Amino acid sequence: MAKIKVKTPLVELDGDEMTRIIWKEIKDRFIHPYLDIELDYYDLGVEYRDKTDDKVTVDSAHAIQKYGVGVKCATITPNQDRVKEYNLKQEWKSPNGTIRSILDGTVFRKPIIVKNIPPAVRSWKKPITVGRHAYGDLYKDTELYIPEAGKVELVYTGKDGKEKQRALIHDFEGAGVIMGQHNLDKSILSFAQACFNYAISEKIDLWFATKDTISKKYHARFRAIFDELAKAKAADLKKAGIEYSYYLIDDAVAQLMKNEGGMLWALMNYDGDVMSDMVASGFGSLGLMTSVLVSPDGKFEYEAAHGTVTRHYRKYQQGETTSTNSVASIFAWTGALIKRGELDGTPDVIAFGQKLEKAVIDTIESGEMTKDLTLLCTDSNAKALDTFQFMEAIQKRL
Ligand code: NAD
Repeated sequence: MAKIKVKTPLVELDGDEMTRIIWKEIKDRFIHPYLDIELDYYDLGVEYRDKTDDKVTVDSAHAIQKYGVGVKCATITPNQDRVKEYNLKQEWKSPNGTIRSILDGTVFRKPIIVKNIPPAVRSWKKPITVGRHAYGDLYKDTELYIPEAGKVELVYTGKDGKEKQRALIHDFEGAGVIMGQHNLDKSILSFAQACFNYAISEKIDLWFATKDTISKKYHARFRAIFDELAKAKAADLKKAGIEYSYYLIDDAVAQLMKNEGGMLWALMNYDGDVMSDMVASGFGSLGLMTSVLVSPDGKFEYEAAHGTVTRHYRKYQQGETTSTNSVASIFAWTGALIKRGELDGTPDVIAFGQKLEKAVIDTIESGEMTKDLTLLCTDSNAKALDTFQFMEAIQKRL
């Protein structure tokens, strides 16, 4: 059988622990036997990141900028324990954070829907994608503990050193706490652009939610930027057959519980942090959650939303059987291949990605899956396969 030609190199970012084991297996079973593909390979395993003083992470992000599409395995973000375990030079920063700041991207998390794994919310029938703004607010705040009575004010000083604005936050009569947050028009706009681009490319409605009734300047600024962009993109939205809607966040939450899903839900940083975990657990398993980083200028990095599954890796190292769910990692590859095919105009590459996705879903729907899923499955005869048996079952179908 002739292999399918992938025109442009795909940037591959290898990772750590159990997901690294799965990663190799995915390439050996599903990629190399079927595709004539050039992989621009970067080893983001923690040891090689340490060896290169993390330069490899920066290089991989630049490669995604160059070629447009990357696929990433989960990686360790080192803490003190990891520094000891791997004898690292330092606690290197999260590779995802480094790549995100170079690509200036927004992360979209989307669950994979399988018929016999029902979501916890009965009305949910289609995936709900969460788009989280990844800059500022609570995550770059300044906080103070106010020990006793006193006045706290916001002061804005211009570049010329002159005071431009002053506002009283609170006149404390006793001890309390205070917090200052910020965001930037540039960052909000690039987040909004990434959301509109994603919704238009996936042909799904876009929801945006904040609390602008209470936060009349801060949240209202986010809303104004989204609303303005919606006007500018009206023709593109119409062409894609989709709508943009703004909701108050409490209304959005209430609506979502009665809705069948199928939209992109754009959220501010903290809301996105909390709501993406709610949506993920509502749909069942971390092993069924995919994630894609989209830059405002249309570069894409696909990955599984979960980590390196350390618990399973420890068992694997002891020679014990594991039942690690490879679905989200496989979908990272199919997502990247389908996008590569779209950008290259190669329908056979797109079709291959779709066939592999179908083989995965059919395998689970026929009752063969990993243990994390048998616990949630409606089919009482579902068979729990180990990490490798599950991939073998998919390959048979493919
Ligand atoms: P994790 O996602 O690896 O595991 C969380 C829990 O979910 C565990 O109980 C695990 O057994 C289960 N789980 C997750 N994915 C699974 C799968 N595919 N199949 C079966 N069970 C699965 O997160 P963690 O344990 O908090 O972190 C482990 C390592 O992963 C850490 O070093 C962390 O830095 C890293 N991490 C990386 C990423 C990333 O690269 N995107 C994301 C999160 C965590």
